[in-house]
Amino acid sequence: MADRGASPLDVTGRVRPALAGFEPYDPAFTPCRINLSANENTHPLPASVTEAMRAAAVSCALNRYPDPMANDLRDLLAAWHGVERANVMVGNGGDELLFNLLFTFGGPGHALVTCPPDFSEYANFAKMCETPCVEVWRDANTFEVDADALVDAARSASLVILTSPNNPTGNLLDPALVRRLLDETNALVLVDEAYVEFAGTPSHLGEDASLVCWVAGCPRLMVLRTLSKAFGLAGLRAGYLVADPAVIDALASIRQIYSEDVLAQAVAAAAVSRRRELVGVVADVVAERERLAAGLAAIPGVEVWPSAANFLLVRLPGASRVRARLRDEYSILVRDFSYAPGLADCLRLTVGTREENDRLLDALSILAREEA
Ligand SMILES: *Cc1c(COP(=O)(O)O)cnc(C)c1O
Repeated sequence: MADRGASPLDVTGRVRPALAGFEPYDPAFTPCRINLSANENTHPLPASVTEAMRAAAVSCALNRYPDPMANDLRDLLAAWHGVERANVMVGNGGDELLFNLLFTFGGPGHALVTCPPDFSEYANFAKMCETPCVEVWRDANTFEVDADALVDAARSASLVILTSPNNPTGNLLDPALVRRLLDETNALVLVDEAYVEFAGTPSHLGEDASLVCWVAGCPRLMVLRTLSKAFGLAGLRAGYLVADPAVIDALASIRQIYSEDVLAQAVAAAAVSRRRELVGVVADVVAERERLAAGLAAIPGVEVWPSAANFLLVRLPGASRVRARLRDEYSILVRDFSYAPGLADCLRLTVGTREENDRLLDALSILAREEA
């Protein structure tokens, strides 16, 4: 029965105190002809892969609940990375796994160490899970992590998250730092490799830049991967964690049992089985990244950082206005980071197709001059 004449419900005071003040996530997605704002893969996948995914989707039994642990997909991922099924946890995107990690291993007295500027979800999820967050800021110019400061901070922490390549700065992590963290502290160490397929030689799909091969010998090391970036499946929601079986078990006991749906499991399995066919796409993105970086560096006033991912961080005068004009006058959407600490006047540009990148370069060369 509807309340008649009731005043609007005010939930302040009813919401769990740790969650008061959170706002719904707004990716600021204005529909634009060219969307280079969320690091998706805008290159079309080979028809052989899209056909296999379509066939997998069509043959799904949607009247049945999913396999909670997505074991078929787990086995494919385990075989790819040379680990056991027990080392792999599949999630509804890497984001779900990040949340579950904080939910499981965080909490009051279980500090998380992060190295900003990095992925804002780490601090966000930590706060939701009442986890104190210790920030070890990266170098303001190179975005390198201060190894001694990080190791010091990690000595009294439960969890450390490092991102390689880092979002939004694009640089790779020195594996020696992970070695030190494992040797000199007792913390769990998560390396977020959401973009690793774009690092190293494209034909290796990230295996030459990934620390996934360390997991079997390092029980406190965890590696996060996703199909949202190189695999071009951001809309599917499939990510995974490679970690010690004890970590996987702990996460398995708190997860939303059916978070990875039947369709996502089937389509992800088809894509992972055919991953060799994606090498050309990754190689194209990497080649475009280098071409775009060179084009950007040639625009007076634009500073561009080297990147091992599928995006580039740039700094230019009036970045916020440039971003708005790209959107309003050229229908090109990029991500504004100029509000973020340490990233004054910075924009993050996802590497698009050759045509998209040409449009972006043309527009930026005009706007950089006008807003200088
Ligand atoms: C995109 C991204 C993820 C995971 O994204 P999902 O779509 O949730 O799999 C994780 N970490 C970083 C740094 C990312 O940029």
